[in-house]
Amino acid sequence: MKIAILPGDGIGPEIVSQAVKVLNALGETFEMETAPVGGAGYEAKGHPLPEETLALAKAADAVLFGAVGDWKYDTLERPLRPEQAILGLRKNLGLFGNLRPAILYPELAGASTLKPEVVSGLDILIVRELTGDIYFGQPRGVRECPDGPFKGQREGFDTMRYAEGEIRRIAHVAFQAAQKRGKRLTSVDKANVLETFQFWKDIVTDVHREYPDVALDHMYVDNAAMQLVRAPKKFDVIVTGNMFGDILSDAAAMLTGSIGMLPSASLDANNKGLYEPSHGSAPDIAGKGIANPLATILSAAMMLRYSLNRAEQADRIESAVKKVLAQGLRTPDIYQEGTTKVGTAQMGDAVVAAL
Ligand code: NAD
Repeated sequence: MKIAILPGDGIGPEIVSQAVKVLNALGETFEMETAPVGGAGYEAKGHPLPEETLALAKAADAVLFGAVGDWKYDTLERPLRPEQAILGLRKNLGLFGNLRPAILYPELAGASTLKPEVVSGLDILIVRELTGDIYFGQPRGVRECPDGPFKGQREGFDTMRYAEGEIRRIAHVAFQAAQKRGKRLTSVDKANVLETFQFWKDIVTDVHREYPDVALDHMYVDNAAMQLVRAPKKFDVIVTGNMFGDILSDAAAMLTGSIGMLPSASLDANNKGLYEPSHGSAPDIAGKGIANPLATILSAAMMLRYSLNRAEQADRIESAVKKVLAQGLRTPDIYQEGTTKVGTAQMGDAVVAAL
């Protein structure tokens, strides 16, 4: 199994090295090769996604990514900015399926803005289609309004569209993810108003015939938004389009109140994926040894589960993370009175010890 390690900028190298330490402690041999990306890629090779880095990512079975970006690159022209690296990787690797779990460990229930009884023990997964929908549909732009009461005025317009194959492949990702969890899938749409999402609902229903072991239900996006803050624990896996997923996954992430804890995965059609924490490069705390490495360590666990077919090893890492939290160890971002404050490397060491 070959893993491309792309630490990136800011806290990226500090947190990725902890995840590598944890992978090395599993007692398996992974081939790991590191390459620069983002600002580090620009410094080393003059481009945020150097050719060698992209070639390594393509050749690997999975990519473990830290974070990219720093204010010092803000004056570069857009194609050379660090954030372009992640867009380039998504496009070149065909990563259309975004998996974002929102997990709230009972020990951290106080970090959420919701009542502890509503969110404690929360464990849901949002599967967001990443490369289609109204964000990419053509035509789009500003034109003269052709009819209606505002005829002749300027109007902005976009095109919402999904091809059948695009819906089928994200539905397969979602059903398979549900099979690896609680075997329940909620497809979120707006079929009562939008043709695109009536079509989405029909195709997801059709794909369901291949996954009889998974229970499928459908929910309108407005109701899903309400249920996410009312009773989020009733969900297992949610699948939805690019725009609805963009909004719902951020809302779900904030249920947990701790950005340093949330992993993510972006998958292609063969379950090859890029794994990264949901947060950015946190330049404000880079180099201080206080960043929370758990989102990256949990991203490595997702990599083992979804791309490397090592579900048992993924379980081991997730249990080890639970154990260090139960021991009361906290990096400053999740620190509460009565717990023990530790740094980035100490947290990584504690997860290794718990393994
Ligand atoms: P950010 O997520 O980097 O930081 C937001 C806040 O959360 C900061 O106060 C930071 O210190 C804190 N934080 C983030 N991760 C943490 C961790 N692991 N442990 C403890 N605290 C943590 O978002 P931002 O400040 O808006 O962006 C900083 C840079 O990151 C920008 O250049 C942005 O473009 C980039 N960014 C990159 C990615 C990515 O690489 N995928 C995603 C988002 C933002």
